[in-house]
Amino acid sequence: MTLLDAVVVGSGPNGLAAAVTLARAGLGVRVLEAQPTAGGGARTLPVPELADDLVFDLCSAVHPMAWASPFFRAFDLGAHGVELVAPEIAYAQPLGGGRAGLAFRDLDRTADGLGPDGDAWRDLIAPLADSWREVTALALGDKRTVRGMLEGVRGGPASSAWGAASAVRPGLRFGAALLEQGGPRWDRRFLTEEAKALLTGVAAHAITPLPSYAGAGTALLLAALAHADGGWAVPVGGSQAVTDALVRDLEAHGGTIETGRAVEDWHDLPPARAVLFDTTPRAVLSIMGDRISVPRRAALRRFRYGNAAAKVDFVLSEPVPWTVPDVGRASTVHVGGTRAEMVIAEDAVANGTHPDRPMVLLSDPGVADPGRVRGNRRPLWTYAHVPAGSTQDLTEAVTRQIERFAPGFRDVVVGSRCIPASHMELHNANYPGGDISSGAASIWQMFARPTPAPDPYQLAEGVYLCSASTPPGPGVHGMGGWHAARRALLREFDIRHVLGLAPA
Ligand SMILES: Cc1cc2nc3c(=O)[nH]c(=O)nc-3n(C[C@H](O)[C@H](O)[C@H](O)COP(=O)(O)OP(=O)(O)OC[C@H]3O[C@@H](n4cnc5c(N)ncnc54)[C@H](O)[C@@H]3O)c2cc1C
Repeated sequence: MTLLDAVVVGSGPNGLAAAVTLARAGLGVRVLEAQPTAGGGARTLPVPELADDLVFDLCSAVHPMAWASPFFRAFDLGAHGVELVAPEIAYAQPLGGGRAGLAFRDLDRTADGLGPDGDAWRDLIAPLADSWREVTALALGDKRTVRGMLEGVRGGPASSAWGAASAVRPGLRFGAALLEQGGPRWDRRFLTEEAKALLTGVAAHAITPLPSYAGAGTALLLAALAHADGGWAVPVGGSQAVTDALVRDLEAHGGTIETGRAVEDWHDLPPARAVLFDTTPRAVLSIMGDRISVPRRAALRRFRYGNAAAKVDFVLSEPVPWTVPDVGRASTVHVGGTRAEMVIAEDAVANGTHPDRPMVLLSDPGVADPGRVRGNRRPLWTYAHVPAGSTQDLTEAVTRQIERFAPGFRDVVVGSRCIPASHMELHNANYPGGDISSGAASIWQMFARPTPAPDPYQLAEGVYLCSASTPPGPGVHGMGGWHAARRALLREFDIRHVLGLAPA
């Protein structure tokens, strides 16, 4: 049998980023994907039970990191034909009494809308938004090496002293903001519920009790990117556009993808000099067994999975009838109420119970991409936080939560379906029990995922992990794949310099 250069198991954004990087270096690459279509957490598919002519984002929908991550900036989605569009309002936080927090792309407009908290918002977010390249490099770095933490900073890679120096001040600001917003002092900065809740809604993406450092890190990165160049973009046509661009590039450089190929055992792998796993540590352990050293296996077994999400997709006959009409101008709405309500909801989930008022994330793709709407039917993407392994259908709980801020919502729903957390892994094995982050977002695992080893990607000679279970963690940024692939190029193939990823 022919010996391949590299096999990538899994075709999520990290797996494809790895595959593209390897193929562009001239290697023969084959991707094996368990599901019938490629893309993992970046797939957009029809759901015939809901509508014949609409498509739905199965997992990710909103993509600030798909333009801002160093990998995607090098790859250049725009040059690969992907149109990223950002709404004028990145995200909104509806509150009772006809109030709402609104994060405009324009930071000054956001601050003006926050009244007495305008200056406090500006002080916290403006320096990070101004230094978004450095903040993104640090947040999406490999959490191990200076070079890997400074990829994409102004002035070039970390090898340049100027690149390293330019990241010091933004790094200190990011660290100080993280300590403030991730700890007990988080309530001191803002006076109004609008500002407190607006930032908390973003922190809640981490699915942790709040405040938390993982939540604060998420909130500060994403809040900064809302005001930076590309905003909270959605790809025209859905997340699949990102996957399709990566697949086209891979195939143009000689790589291949086999779908419907679940790898369950070492024998399912074709012979190759390097294997990169876009999977959970649990899957690698079961596939590779004693090909990984005893201490490394023990460390991987200690990897912790997190709480979960239940997905609820709706078809609407009209846009959501928000009490505050401006909320409908945002593609992303955090439906969780006040800061205190979100804290209660996330605490309940952390304690293994279903909150009465769950944290709901909502995206209306038709706001930024009108082509997603067909006649009088529009898709609405939501998910709610639930305890790991939850089997509950969250449709009614999500509907009630939206109704609080959009009375009459129920009347515009013409169809819905729920994927309970316990079913998420049926369409993506990387979400065990519905853990959409492929690993708990604890402070320890923010830095030491999947294990505290000096190299978080290489598990054994020729064996690498490259999924969201590695640094920098969840999100469609391709960074885990990129970091892992470049290590594999160096160690297995002695290739030090990777050529550009953008189209010629
Ligand atoms: C409901 C939901 C909403 C989200 N929203 C957003 C969002 O709006 N923005 C954002 O940036 N991120 C979002 N995310 C997170 C994002 O989708 C993931 O973090 C990202 O897709 C991780 O990429 P990955 O390549 O590591 O793994 P995945 O995208 O999870 O892909 C892993 C792939 O590996 C395959 N695989 C696993 N095991 C095997 C095996 N043994 N054999 C063969 N194939 C295998 C899987 O089938 C899958 O295709 C969301 C996730 C979910 C679930």
